[in-house]
Amino acid sequence: MTKTALITGITGQDGAYLARLLLSKGYKVYGAFRRSSVLNLERLDYLGIRDYVELVPLDLLDTGNIIRVLQKTQPDEVYNLAAQSFVAVSFEQPVVTGEITGLGAVRVLEAIRTVNPKIKFYQASSSEMFGKVQAVPQSEKTPFYPRSPYAAAKLYAHWMTVNYRESYGIFACSGILFNHESELRGLEFVTRKITDAVARVKHGLQKELRLGNLEAKRDWGYAPEYVEAMWLMLQQPEPDDYVIATGETHSVREFAEEAFACAGLDWRDYVVEDPALKRPADVELLVGDASKARQKLGWRPRTTFKELVRIMVEADLKRVAAQCRP
Ligand code: NDP
Ligand code: GDP
Repeated sequence: MTKTALITGITGQDGAYLARLLLSKGYKVYGAFRRSSVLNLERLDYLGIRDYVELVPLDLLDTGNIIRVLQKTQPDEVYNLAAQSFVAVSFEQPVVTGEITGLGAVRVLEAIRTVNPKIKFYQASSSEMFGKVQAVPQSEKTPFYPRSPYAAAKLYAHWMTVNYRESYGIFACSGILFNHESELRGLEFVTRKITDAVARVKHGLQKELRLGNLEAKRDWGYAPEYVEAMWLMLQQPEPDDYVIATGETHSVREFAEEAFACAGLDWRDYVVEDPALKRPADVELLVGDASKARQKLGWRPRTTFKELVRIMVEADLKRVAAQCRP
């Protein structure tokens, strides 16, 4: 029997990779997008799957809309990847971040409860919820301490996911994913900002790269591997929450050093520290302990930090070179 999945946030990095994975497993995939004057399907095009995903308009701000989409598509699984996902913007737009990233998840859960409580639900939770970390490394048992409106909104959605599981028996899982990157990562996130800058510097289009907190450390993994964990969570006999991480941490400075080196450049010649890019409160150190996922899901990361940086730099060099061709 063909399974049907609905992915919110289909235009985002993870939406594209997850859609590709589910299509490869024979799923019928509905991709939910929010209406805008220009629909951005670049990532689906990049992966060559645009024609295989059925697109449905859905906005996380509108419960009635979500209910009708579930009635129409009748999914077996819903992956809620949509969010206002950028921490820095959440300080400027805390209310809309709460509406989309926090309440948005609850609207989907309410719609599932109303339309068909048998629908399995995946919530895209985040290591940002650990914030000012209370233990190193962070596991499912580590207490949360969110440090941004984004993290607080994600934490609300996380606990509501747990609550709907415990209150209504919904098969609801929360994947606490540490940062995961790729050539499809949004340009505003630090990794992609760096690899894009490396390519532009190499082609003479940019002279410097302004960054904020260089000492912040993140546990960076490769996104295509992380969406596999999302799917695995919904295939288990019981719903549960899982940390997904590499277990290695590196600073922004190290990422920049490695990325510029991949293109034969010295990062110190280009990177400028700009205090204006620092956040009102930052998360200084994240490093995850994914042993539960390894044991129960059989999931483990395969791409090393160096390989990840190289994949991203090479993709950006190729893209910028193509743009420079007359
Ligand atoms: P992206 O920012 O690339 O994608 C976010 C998606 O949400 C986009 O498709 C966006 O649509 C959509 N969206 C935003 N607002 C709404 C709305 N009101 N209604 C419907 N759709 C909306 O994020 P990623 O793919 O990187 O991440 C996927 C999820 O995982 C997010 O929830 C993120 O917070 C979470 N996460 C990501 C991590 C990472 O390292 N990547 C780590 C941990 C958690 P549009 O294109 O129109 O803006
Ligand atoms: P986040 O972990 O979801 O906030 O992912 P980001 O990629 O946005 O940020 C990771 C870390 O890089 C944070 O600690 C930021 O403060 C730090 N950082 C330093 N300079 C920059 C910058 O110019 N842009 C971004 N996005 N982050 C930066």
